[in-house]
Amino acid sequence: MEELLAKTILQKTKPDIDFWFYNDYNMNLYRGCSHGCIYCDSRSLCYGIENFDKVIPKKDSIKILEEELIRKRKKGIIGMGSMSDPYNPLEKKLKNTRDALKLILKYGYGTQIITKSNLILRDLDLLKEINVHESVLVNITVTTADPVLQKIIEPFSSTTEERFEALKILNENGIKAGITLMPILPYVNDTVENLDALLEKAKAAKVHHIYPWFGLTMRDRQRDYLYQKLDEHFPGVRQKYEREFGQNYQANSRNSNTLYPHLQEKCKQYGILYNIRDINKSFVKPPKQMQLEL
Ligand code: SF4
Repeated sequence: MEELLAKTILQKTKPDIDFWFYNDYNMNLYRGCSHGCIYCDSRSLCYGIENFDKVIPKKDSIKILEEELIRKRKKGIIGMGSMSDPYNPLEKKLKNTRDALKLILKYGYGTQIITKSNLILRDLDLLKEINVHESVLVNITVTTADPVLQKIIEPFSSTTEERFEALKILNENGIKAGITLMPILPYVNDTVENLDALLEKAKAAKVHHIYPWFGLTMRDRQRDYLYQKLDEHFPGVRQKYEREFGQNYQANSRNSNTLYPHLQEKCKQYGILYNIRDINKSFVKPPKQMQLEL
């Protein structure tokens, strides 16, 4: 099997209580992602990943990770899923993400995971153990309640139903699990009907939070791939994007002004967190040393 040489696994980040995805470190145990999302930002040239849809594991990632975890003076939350889904099909066999969670547990770190796969349920035992003392947050991305549309825009990930089932099981087991409701594609799934259908499913699954963004980024290769897929499946939409967004990096839905207040109102009604600071404050625990002192 092809493997990628890696010198380091952990990347230091600057956690910000008012910003999405509060992590002290980020890591990607794999390069590339095979879920095939038509809007994926990780295809952009700045990341330098050729043949992005092929998943390649990083050689000796678990050994390198353990050395780094031992050396770090500051413990904290380790994020997974920013550039590559940690629960890709290869993970079933390789179990690198599972082995990394074992190390996270062993060395007293927390974790925040972003995924579109219900394979995360395989690791529920470890997430529960980490959650006893450290911070754990799971974000499962869902963008459409329509199964036909989902197969077009996220063709090789778990279905939306499977993702909501995973959310339900995680929350029933005490893991704070919510939704990354992004990106939302203008003229494709930025409707109140889609939002309402997702919110009803979120309520039924008792999700902990929703991170909403009614728009997407578009950069070079990412835009090219998206436009190719828009032409294949949504004739005329690419032309609307070209007219409305030009070369803009961000493409926000014109319906945002309706969708945001609607989401906020429903989340308040259903007891779902949607404010970034509230979400971060709800799951970030002080490191163990501080807990003992307290
Ligand atoms: S799951 Fe994430 S990383 Fe993978 S293709 Fe989709 S957007 Fe890209």
